[in-house]
Amino acid sequence: MQSNPLFIQRLNVGPYEVNTYIVACPETLEGIIIDPGGEDEKVHRVIEDHHIHPRYLINTHGHRDHVQSNVAISTHYDIPVCMHVDDKTFFQDRAASQAPETRKTYDIDIALHHDDVLTVGTLKVKVIHTPGHTPGSVCLHINNCLFSGDTLFVESAGRADLPGGNFHTLIRSIHQRLVPLPPDTIVYPGHDYGPTPVSTIGREIKENIYITDFISPST
Ligand SMILES: [Zn+2]
Ligand SMILES: [Zn+2]
Repeated sequence: MQSNPLFIQRLNVGPYEVNTYIVACPETLEGIIIDPGGEDEKVHRVIEDHHIHPRYLINTHGHRDHVQSNVAISTHYDIPVCMHVDDKTFFQDRAASQAPETRKTYDIDIALHHDDVLTVGTLKVKVIHTPGHTPGSVCLHINNCLFSGDTLFVESAGRADLPGGNFHTLIRSIHQRLVPLPPDTIVYPGHDYGPTPVSTIGREIKENIYITDFISPST
C-alpha cells in the first residue's frame, strides 16, 4: 500500500461534461492525462500550477467526448496516446470515411491490452479491459484508485445500446473484473451522474443496481 496519496485532479469539461483526470506520482510528479474532453486551458493550468510532467495520454474508450483533445494535448506535451486495441480498431474503422481531423483523433500510439502496466514515476497504471460500453473500454487501476470511464458510474453504469455496446458483456466485465477489487478501492467515473462524484467498490456492490439486480452467480 502506497503511503503517499496520488495527485488527482478532476476537471469537468465539454458539452457532455466528461471527467478529465490528471493523475501524478507524488514523488516524481510524472503524470497521465485521462480522457481529455476539451477546455484544454483547464488541463494546462493544472499541469503548470502543480509542475506535473505528463508522460501518457490514456483514453478509457473511444467515444468522441473522451478523445476530443487527443491531438491538441498529445502534441502540446509530446506524449503518446494510449487506447485499448479493440477501441482503436473499432473507432478507426468508423472514422475512416470521416474528416481528416476526426481520423487524426484516432491516431493511437500505444494499443493497450488487458493487464498491461504503464510505469509513471513510482506509479503502476494497470489496464483492466472492461468491454460492454464499447468493445475496448478499460478501467485504470492505480494504487487503491480506479478510473472507471463509462463502464461504472456512481450508482449506475454506462450505456450498452450504442454501436459496439453489449449489455451482457458490460455486466460480465463489472462482475468479473471490478467487483473482485478491494472494497475500499475508490471509483473515479467518467461522468458525474451519481449523488457524489466518487464512490468505492464496496459501496457500489451494496448500492449500484447494475450489481445488486443484474449480477447473479451465473453471470
Ligand atoms: Zn462513452
Ligand atoms: Zn462518456
